[in-house]
Amino acid sequence: MSNTNTTKAPSRGLYVNMGNGPTLQPIDIGHKSHMAIIDPDTAFWALVKKKQLAEHLTDSDLLKTYKRKAKKFADEMETLRFGLKPSGVYFNPTERCNLNCTYCYIPEDMRRDGKHMSEKKLMESLEILKQYFKKTMDKGRKPNVVFHGAEPMLNKDAMFAGIEKYKKDFLFGVQTNATLLDDEAIEFLKARNVSIGISLDAPVANVNNKTRTNWAGEGTYDLIIKAMNKLKGYHSWSVICTVTEKNMRSLPKLVDFFHENEVPTCLLNVLRCTMPRSRDIKPKDATVAKHFIAAMDRTHELYKKTGRKLIVANFANILISILAPTARRLMCDISPCGGGRSFFALAPNGDMFPCSEFIGLKDFKGGNLFRNDVEKVLESKAFKTVTERKVEDIEPCNRCAIRHFCGSPCPAEAHEMNGGMDKTGAFCEFYEEQTRYALRLIADNKHEDFLWPSWDKDTKTTFNATSL
Ligand code: SF4
Ligand code: SF4
Repeated sequence: MSNTNTTKAPSRGLYVNMGNGPTLQPIDIGHKSHMAIIDPDTAFWALVKKKQLAEHLTDSDLLKTYKRKAKKFADEMETLRFGLKPSGVYFNPTERCNLNCTYCYIPEDMRRDGKHMSEKKLMESLEILKQYFKKTMDKGRKPNVVFHGAEPMLNKDAMFAGIEKYKKDFLFGVQTNATLLDDEAIEFLKARNVSIGISLDAPVANVNNKTRTNWAGEGTYDLIIKAMNKLKGYHSWSVICTVTEKNMRSLPKLVDFFHENEVPTCLLNVLRCTMPRSRDIKPKDATVAKHFIAAMDRTHELYKKTGRKLIVANFANILISILAPTARRLMCDISPCGGGRSFFALAPNGDMFPCSEFIGLKDFKGGNLFRNDVEKVLESKAFKTVTERKVEDIEPCNRCAIRHFCGSPCPAEAHEMNGGMDKTGAFCEFYEEQTRYALRLIADNKHEDFLWPSWDKDTKTTFNATSL
């Protein structure tokens, strides 16, 4: 796999980018004085002065360092990419949702008329999962269970009963549209340290309400703001914004709004285009990248002004994937992605999918929690189609230097929108620009300002409910 393998050709590997020599690609990161050189296979990188590039690629200290570290980097990358076992589940306790957001990946008939999982079945599921994780996870580590949507709060009684009974066995999270989060529900979740993720797409009602509406077409802004006010001060809450053509221009203002409202962590996730309906509001790569980077710059200004950070978890994850790949918390930007590998998704009838993104796609059902062994489901053809999708098999990712900082997401998009697992997803230039920006921050030594204070404490984190 990597250029550390010297058995492939009769070459001593003396020269960069030849024979068994190190592969180090120079990358323009848009910085005034520095550029990056990256080994795409191992994700080894260095930032070097542009003027000294030639020296670095010949007989230099950098090459000596590379030779010392390449094997370690290659081994780490191999484990991260192919050696993980699931440590979390996205658990959908209902098919139904009280909203009809423009870009939802769950089919409309399911969300409108679907079924809840009964309390009995929900308890049975948690017991099966508990027993499964007991066999596969290290003692002392708890698996994550994130109740996810559709809208999990529509089946609140069953979900809360599960949290109560299994609170010692799992780290629980709830990802909700926030419209049903009343005082009582918030108190219940806070008292049990459940991480709470809510969704808001813009700082003002008329933009948020373009995409996040109920079935009658009414906006949800006011209800979300009420919930945000109640969550202030809680240690484990976050807000997800889905970035579309409709709201990308308001990202810097949204960052201000989150900061003002003491949101500790947010995610500015560019829209997934798995479902045809979402493609109508797909932003252009280059334009969305520009607004996203402006928003990141704004978080930095706010931090410098106030001393308080607003962490943008999906961007922090990109920085971490560069600085210490095994410490990353989210698993979309590694190839194969985390779907079916570091977590899986559970539908209300017990059907198992590699990721929630596949829940509406029957061909990706790998089995059923109540009828099949979890280990067998992980080995099913449906799961393997996703877990074996890798950047080496995708053009042009197979020759892209940043392929292990991007991961070529998302397999669901690639399959549904672009016609196959060997295709890229909906965005490429956005990921290019995001990575170049991250490398510029590192060149300017500003990167720590964008990260959680203890981001490198637990280098084993690969699925973290608090950062969803
Ligand atoms: S890339 Fe897509 S399928 Fe993979 S974890 Fe992310 S959303 Fe799920
Ligand atoms: S999607 Fe684009 S940026 Fe990402 S690995 Fe592929 S070619 Fe590189």
